[in-house]
Amino acid sequence: MIKILSISDQVDPLVYSKNLKERHGDVEFVVSCGDLSYMYLEYIITILNCPLYFVRGNHDPEQELTMGEPRAYPLGARNLHRRTLRNHGILMAGVEGSIRYNRRTPYQYTQGMMWNHVFKLVPGLLINKLIHGRYLDIFVTHAPLTGIHEGSDWAHQGIKAFRWLVNTFQPAYHFHGHIHYYRPDEVKESWFGKTKVINTYRSQVTEINLKDLST
Ligand SMILES: [Zn+2]
Repeated sequence: MIKILSISDQVDPLVYSKNLKERHGDVEFVVSCGDLSYMYLEYIITILNCPLYFVRGNHDPEQELTMGEPRAYPLGARNLHRRTLRNHGILMAGVEGSIRYNRRTPYQYTQGMMWNHVFKLVPGLLINKLIHGRYLDIFVTHAPLTGIHEGSDWAHQGIKAFRWLVNTFQPAYHFHGHIHYYRPDEVKESWFGKTKVINTYRSQVTEINLKDLST
């Protein structure tokens, strides 16, 4: 059993705190679903001293200013966008951004562009199946998939290509952000086939039994 810390959309004061090591020192790695500053991600990497994988959200800028210096990447974090990789024996892949609703920020895409991102992942997933016996364990995106946790307005709609990928390759987990919830009784975890779909808002710990990963 391993623990994963997922974060998204808003800084969690319980994470951005001097007690981070005591609270989350036992997580194996961190997954960021976007809309968070590099400074925050780097703080977590420094304190927990563990890998952090991220995708960008629709509110993320192309460059972040840190003490006046423009930077395009958070130091020490690995970008999952259009990539498949293996970490702790876990097969991961990701897609950044949300549906396009204006042209003010860079990481917004049409449904057609999202299909393109998703198809870019397919060769890696097929190779995973050949080498490791399964396609994918954790799919990380900023936006939700069509039909699960999606918002009722245009900007928070689900992505059709994500639904196709999850339905076709049945990863054990799909972590996404972008959908804020304000009441404790709002649904933040759902099943889609064999996939547990987790809406991360602020922060969440998920325990993964490596033996449960689909074969
Ligand atoms: Zn968002």
